[in-house]
Formats: sequence, C-alpha cells, structure tokens
Amino acid sequence: MSAPIVIPTDLRPFDGRFGSGPSKVRPEGVHRLADAATSYLGTSHRQAGVRGVVHKVRDGLREFFSLPDDYEVLLGNGGSTVFWDAASFGLIERRAQHVVVGEFSQKFATVTTKAPHLDDPETIESAPGATPAPCRANPDIDAYCFPHNETSTGVMLDLVRPAGNDPTRGDGLVLVDATSGAGGLRVDPAAYDVYYFAPQKCFGGDGGTWLALCSPAAVERIERLAASDRWRPASIDLGTALEQSRLDQTYNTPSLATVFLLADQIEWMNAHGGLEGMATRCDTSAGTLYGWAERNPLTTPFVADARHRSHVTATIDFADTVDAAAIAEVLRANGILDTEPYRKLGRNQLRIAMFPNIDPDDIERLTRAIDFVVAHLATA
Ligand SMILES: *Cc1c(COP(=O)(O)O)cnc(C)c1O
Repeated sequence: MSAPIVIPTDLRPFDGRFGSGPSKVRPEGVHRLADAATSYLGTSHRQAGVRGVVHKVRDGLREFFSLPDDYEVLLGNGGSTVFWDAASFGLIERRAQHVVVGEFSQKFATVTTKAPHLDDPETIESAPGATPAPCRANPDIDAYCFPHNETSTGVMLDLVRPAGNDPTRGDGLVLVDATSGAGGLRVDPAAYDVYYFAPQKCFGGDGGTWLALCSPAAVERIERLAASDRWRPASIDLGTALEQSRLDQTYNTPSLATVFLLADQIEWMNAHGGLEGMATRCDTSAGTLYGWAERNPLTTPFVADARHRSHVTATIDFADTVDAAAIAEVLRANGILDTEPYRKLGRNQLRIAMFPNIDPDDIERLTRAIDFVVAHLATA
C-alpha cells in the first residue's frame, strides 16, 4: 500500500464542506443558536418566542424573493419529498405534467403516477445531463411540474411558464421544485405559482422542513381542494398548512433549531445583497469551476450545454485514466467532504456544490487540491 496523499495546507479550502445537501451551515448561525439555547430551544411553538422566529422566516423570504403582496409563504414539516405528497392531495386537481431530467424530478412524477385519485401524468423526459425539454401547454393539465435545478445531474432549467399559461384564467399551475435552486438562482415570482424548497441546500440549514412561495392562483387552488370532499392525510393537508402558516405556526411541532438557523441564514443573505448578491456569488464559483474543468485536459463539465450547467451544483466528468471515486476518497481523508457524484448516476464524476454559503475562493482552492490529488494518484 502506498503512503496516504496529504494535501498541502495552502491548497486546502478553509471549509471542506462541498456536499449538495445537507450542505455547509454557517458556524455563526450555529453559535447564535447556542447563545439562544436556554430562551428558545425547548419552548412552545405556539408562543411568541418561536412564532416570532417563524415570522422572521416568512417575512425574510418575502423580502429575499421580492414577492408581490398577494403571494403567501407556507411552511410545514417533512422537507420537499413530503411536499410532493402534500401537493398530490392539495394542489394537483386531476392531472399533472412532469418535466423529468433526473432522479428528483422522476420521484415527483412517480408520486402522481401512483396516486389513485389522480390520472396518469404526462411526462416530458430528457436524458441525464442533456439540454432539458421544457414543459408545454396542454389544456388537459392542471399542474406543470419541473425542477429549477436537478441536483442529481447538475442541470439548471429555465423558469418560464408554458406558452400562453395564465392560471388566473383557469390554466394549469406552475409548480417548481426549487429545493436546490432557491436562494442561489435568480427567479421572477411572475413565472411560478408555487416555488418550493427545503433549508438544507442554498439556505445552508438543516432538513425536515418544506417552504412554499404561493401565488394567489395557488392559494385559491389549495383552498378549493381543502373545501372539497377529497380525503387528505391530516399531517400533510395544505389547507391546514395555509391556515397555520398565516399564524406563523405549523400543524405539528417543527424542529426549532431548523427554524432558527433558517431565520439567521435569511437575515445574512438579505444583508449581503439579497438574491442578486447570492446569485452573483454562485456565478463566480461556477465561472471558476467550469473554467478549470474546461481548461483541464482530464475533465469535462458533464452538462454539454453551458446555458444549462448548474450554478449551484456542478457535475464534472473525469477521463477514464483517472478514477474520480479515488479522488473523492483522498479528498475525504483530507477533510474535503461529499464530492462524490449522485449515487444512481453511476458516472466517473465529482459533484461539487457552489451554494451561497460556499466561499468562491474555496472553490478556487478546491480545484487546486483536486489537481494535486490527480497528480499524486498518477504516481502512487
Ligand atoms: C434535495 C432535493 C429534494 C429532496 O429534498 P428533501 O428535503 O430531502 O425531501 C427534492 N428535490 C430536489 C431538486 C432536491 O435537490
């Protein structure tokens, strides 16, 4: 066995967390949580202390995403995966259309396919990493579903309504899975009816909570389905989530630490340029990483179409002569974590998150660390 490869300190990122979720949490937020521990953790989520923090989250998101006054911010327990189930009962009326470009978009399509109370969805599928085909207008569809960023492949999608779409005139709602895109990619509220996400990606927090920015047409749909006789599991009833969110509460007990870290993170993001400031950080990281991958003869960005290369989760293929899994293993041994590709994609690849919390300078250092590892693997 050869000696372990030790990456010199001056090539190492200052923070070694490059995972695509859970992702780097700012230590400052964790310290503030520790400071608030005895007055906040372990207190009632029905009282002003916790409700004030939930209110900060809802207000802070409103500011961050420049929401029109008639949009509402909903939240509930369970993360984005649970939101899919909730949407299958409380947002989709009869038939959904799904743009499927990878594992996460496929999972939502599977939910609505299996739901006995919904018709089989229409799916528009593109191969992993290929230029994504957009959703298309169809009068039979009442919910158009697509991700803003497909985390499993590193493809980002244009956020546009299908041609002529206007839900205020009865057309289908646009439901965007922004789990990994929200907070790092620019977005115009006019382009969606529901923009839903969870805090463990761009918002650098913990998982287990979903958030959904809802247009008036989406709120109307939620209220109408909640008043219908369709059976819905109580814990994921969006009508209840709407009522509770308006009171800065959740139906059942939320993770108070998650809510606190999220409020702290949103405050930091708003203080550092808001969405434009965060998207600019991600652009800088993406420019550095893809620029390196294109110059390096051993690497290629997996997504050939540069316009759809994600600015929040990059996927970089390696030549057959280099074992990407071995690189990830050496990086891990050196404290540089979670650069492995999405497990089911099965490529000779590294996946690197460039979420707003990740310092663009650390992305630069990471490229040099990888070059170092590749050079030393070759001689090992
Ligand atoms: C991470 C992710 C999910 C799943 O989120 P959970 O909160 O773990 O359920 C769904 N969609 C996308 C695009 C994701 O990146």
